[in-house]
Amino acid sequence: MLTINAQHWLEGVRHVPSPFHDPRPDPADISLLVVHNISLPPGQFGGPYIEQLFTGTLNPTDHPYFEAISGIRVSAHCLIRRNGDIIQFVPFDSRAWHAGVSQFAGRDKCNDYSIGIELEGTDNLPYTQVQYDVLAELTRVLLNRYPRLDSQRITGHEFIAPGRKTDPGLAFDWLAYRQKLQADIES
Ligand SMILES: [Zn+2]
Repeated sequence: MLTINAQHWLEGVRHVPSPFHDPRPDPADISLLVVHNISLPPGQFGGPYIEQLFTGTLNPTDHPYFEAISGIRVSAHCLIRRNGDIIQFVPFDSRAWHAGVSQFAGRDKCNDYSIGIELEGTDNLPYTQVQYDVLAELTRVLLNRYPRLDSQRITGHEFIAPGRKTDPGLAFDWLAYRQKLQADIES
């Protein structure tokens, strides 16, 4: 059972604080959940590199792909690994830097008012069942904690940054996620 403490961190999961965050313009406005994917190097799972990217410690010489990205300043609130482990990088009341140029329902700058959840994965490879289970549970606790979030205000990075981003991609089963979420809410 996940719980969120008074400092807006999940209890019982690993915390890897990222320097890449700042205050939300309106700390009370947490009203969108954005699902992403990431894997580093792309398509490879389980290494330390996502944590290193989100903490500014990725070594550009560890892999050719890292040269181009090692200097970028990005983060998300949480990562859900292939085995379902959650890592939290930024407290939910702070602005993580995950969405970039983006717009939801006519409103831009989604980072200002959203929570970003990364699934370890790619656009085309099926996510694991435990990732769906953990994502649904995490979503449920976030919806309970932040009243401006609701099930209609959950989206993917590809939909708020079309033409620029493609994640979580065709591999993400929105129907299964929404059905799992609904079942959890009703139970
Ligand atoms: Zn993304």
